[in-house]
Amino acid sequence: MDFDYVIVGAGSAGCLLANRLSAIPGNKVCLIEAGPSDWSPFIHIPAGFMKTVTNKRLNWLYETEPSVGTNGRSIPTPRGKVLGGSSSINGLIFNRGQRLDFDNWAQRGNVGWGYDDLLPHFKSLENYKSSARQIFKSSGKKELRGSGGEMIVTDLNWRDPLCEAFIQSAVSMGMPVNPDYNGENEEGVSYVQRTVSGTRRMSASTAYLKPIKRRRNLKIITNAFVTKLRFEDSRVIGVEYKRSQSNQSSIFIKSSGEVILSGGAINSPQMLQLSGIGPGKLLQSLGIPIRCELPGVGVNLRDHYATRLTGKAKNVRTINELSRGPRLFGEIVKYAVGRQSILSLGPTLVYCFWHSNELRRSNDLQISFTPASYALGRQSELDNFPGFSIAAWVQRPESSGWVRAKSQDPFCKPIIQPNYLEAAEDQRILVEGIKISRKLMNSSALSPYFDHEVYPGKDVQSDAELLNVARERSNTAYHLVGSCRMAPKSDSTSVVDNNLRVRGFQNLRVVDASIMPMIPSSNVNAAVLAIAEKIATEIVRGS
Ligand SMILES: Cc1cc2nc3c(=O)[nH]c(=O)nc-3n(C[C@H](O)[C@H](O)[C@H](O)COP(=O)(O)OP(=O)(O)OC[C@H]3O[C@@H](n4cnc5c(N)ncnc54)[C@H](O)[C@@H]3O)c2cc1C
Repeated sequence: MDFDYVIVGAGSAGCLLANRLSAIPGNKVCLIEAGPSDWSPFIHIPAGFMKTVTNKRLNWLYETEPSVGTNGRSIPTPRGKVLGGSSSINGLIFNRGQRLDFDNWAQRGNVGWGYDDLLPHFKSLENYKSSARQIFKSSGKKELRGSGGEMIVTDLNWRDPLCEAFIQSAVSMGMPVNPDYNGENEEGVSYVQRTVSGTRRMSASTAYLKPIKRRRNLKIITNAFVTKLRFEDSRVIGVEYKRSQSNQSSIFIKSSGEVILSGGAINSPQMLQLSGIGPGKLLQSLGIPIRCELPGVGVNLRDHYATRLTGKAKNVRTINELSRGPRLFGEIVKYAVGRQSILSLGPTLVYCFWHSNELRRSNDLQISFTPASYALGRQSELDNFPGFSIAAWVQRPESSGWVRAKSQDPFCKPIIQPNYLEAAEDQRILVEGIKISRKLMNSSALSPYFDHEVYPGKDVQSDAELLNVARERSNTAYHLVGSCRMAPKSDSTSVVDNNLRVRGFQNLRVVDASIMPMIPSSNVNAAVLAIAEKIATEIVRGS
């Protein structure tokens, strides 16, 4: 069969694109996904995050290379490998980022990518069911939130004394309570907004694919690993996929129109490199014939790197105790009958968006709170004492790294090096973030529930010691972006133009987290969806 659009990767971007492009009855669309369908209940129950984050059937389970910034550690780096992609295993937070983030994208020469250009797309993709409707409007009475889209976004409705005390602690440090961090201003403290409907996760697959799966002009192929793009001169004519690594034969899917790579920030640059599109020296070293030399493919990889402090709690029940023994049974029953339960929680409950320096115009720190604590700081195992966590990360890190194919074998995992904390400014901001987290922990508002600081512990005090803590214990916040950067042609790191077409090719695009010119001051799923919505709108308009 011959398709008008072949989309590689059914993640956040791929699901939305498949929905919009197949809405035109004349378009024949094929969506190819390496992972399985998303039937697993651990995907749909929000707390299932604890399982899917390490599940090899649903997750690529990448690891970063060791570096100075990780004190020589490799950091486990999950990525969704299932319908919905990373949106099926993510932490459910919905956070757009600041106006300044996107205005900066435009300022870098990416025409049409400023905040005002993206706002209609942020609005059309969501259905925000706010608990306080007046926050829909900005001070200029402009509608900032959407109510007609498929992605249901809700305010967290969980309330407990520890979260309330933490919010009071933030207020006592001068942070305003912000009723909508996705509205006019991000700065302040509040409960999180989530991609959750009732008690169930809204992944991109649930929102955009499930309702249209039976469209006759849409073919969805799962368990299909795209190993190669096929070309005729400078036209891509389709892709080849394999069912498994041991499978000798490939299946060819033809596209007379476009091929759109939506494989995410690790896999999209790897696919381009394996197809001979990338840095010349790298391709030569791997013995891959150069089809188009694009030095930017794989570079500019950025991520948020979070340092998590652990407090021991007292006089209050935390998720740690509720998730064990008979209490867990009680929580399961409550979830089953639709009552407030820890099973409907994700990993973060409250956010502060704040600044490391009073002179900063826009916040540069994101600080999260959750009434749970994790063994060794990892989000897959809870401590066996009552605990809570406060984590801080630098919102717009200057440090950047790369993704490089390791061999010609598409099944061989690529080299991932984010170079966490390489830039001195990132080190400074994160150390400030740890200090602010500590002040929050030691505030009088939290004192009725705060027993003592478990990690790093009160003996750790100097800036050098705190930086060492950041290096030895931080983890990815799972926000890898930027490795197929959108930038003007004059920029040597440019991979795609402002229509997200790969430079040198008319009918090959990348549409996913990898095209971001810079990481936004936020969790990144909302921005990925807006990118896909914008490009889909433009393709449909032009077709
Ligand atoms: C554990 C985790 C927690 C996160 N928490 C949050 C959060 O709370 N809030 C937030 O905003 N963001 C969060 N993120 C980030 C966010 O979910 C991702 O940035 C976003 O989903 C990326 O979308 P994407 O379309 O670029 O890629 P993905 O959603 O990762 O989709 C890529 C898809 O392509 C498929 N694919 C890749 N290569 C191939 C191939 N060769 N052949 C076929 N298919 C292929 C993959 O299997 C995958 O399904 C989290 C991410 C993770 C992993």
